[in-house]
Amino acid sequence: MRVLAIGECMAELAPAAEPDDYHLGFAGDTFNTAWYLARLRPDMDVSFFTAVGTDPLSYQMREAFATSGIDSSYVLSVPDSTVGLYMISLENGERSFSYWRGQSAARQLATNPQLLARAMTEVDLIYFSGITLAILDVTSREILLDALRVARASGKVIAFDPNLRPRLWSGTSEMTATIMQGATVSDIALPSYEDEAEWFGDDDPIATVDRYASAGATTIVVKNGADAVHFRHGDMSGVMPVPPLNHVIDTTAAGDSFNAGILAGIAENAPLNDSITLACRLAGAVVQGKGALVPIDPTLFDAVSVKGNENA
Ligand code: ADP
Repeated sequence: MRVLAIGECMAELAPAAEPDDYHLGFAGDTFNTAWYLARLRPDMDVSFFTAVGTDPLSYQMREAFATSGIDSSYVLSVPDSTVGLYMISLENGERSFSYWRGQSAARQLATNPQLLARAMTEVDLIYFSGITLAILDVTSREILLDALRVARASGKVIAFDPNLRPRLWSGTSEMTATIMQGATVSDIALPSYEDEAEWFGDDDPIATVDRYASAGATTIVVKNGADAVHFRHGDMSGVMPVPPLNHVIDTTAAGDSFNAGILAGIAENAPLNDSITLACRLAGAVVQGKGALVPIDPTLFDAVSVKGNENA
């Protein structure tokens, strides 16, 4: 199974041990999912589709893709441009984030429809998010959605995390309308209930499941922090509890790592409840570590039971 994640990776400045020292890292929602997927399944082909600049920071980011085991053949270079940046500030143990991403090269990622189409033909599963849509202008958004529609019609599996970020949109109606357009080109929807309730007014996670099912997704998994995961897969729906944790340290990338668990399970053709179990275990390990990219031991997350091999 070959997977293509499409979106933005940013440079991250995180407080280091010494005051006023910062550590340079790289993170971003779809990239984080690709990173966890590559960690979890080193034998899987994981590619990242984005655009970076031509400056040293952009080259460092490309190197970070390579050292993470993520293929970057489809990373576009935008001349005279650079990548987005965010900085984490710590005040009395509370983290706050400042962003410089308005001009990031990733905003140009869908300017080459031929490259996008070629990248999609070479993989089996394509993953994108509401943030991927949010950073694009209207024309690029259409190019991306068209390419996804064509890929889906040709049998590719499309997975989507709505990842609602109102600050990246010009208004909430533009956000909700475009997110539902994203949903209509997707087979798999991986929303987070808290955000969906706030921006779509869903009364409960079942309403979230129903809305994404009406848009055409056939597999829907609704995350809800420490609360139970609601899912639907074809005609089958259900609820699975999240194993409780005593020490949650940092919930950054909880949803992104959870998605990697789901995609790994789907890539292995595992039953959805096994994929959800894997996703909860992975996200559970991630929230007990610091930062977006928490090193994990893949041997603790071995292949879930594989369906379809019984008769092999
Ligand atoms: P998002 O980051 O998209 O808001 P959630 O906060 O819903 O995602 O968390 C995603 C997953 O991470 C949950 O489904 C769960 O498996 C795990 N998780 C998050 N917070 C906790 C917690 N406090 N205790 C246990 N698991 C958690």
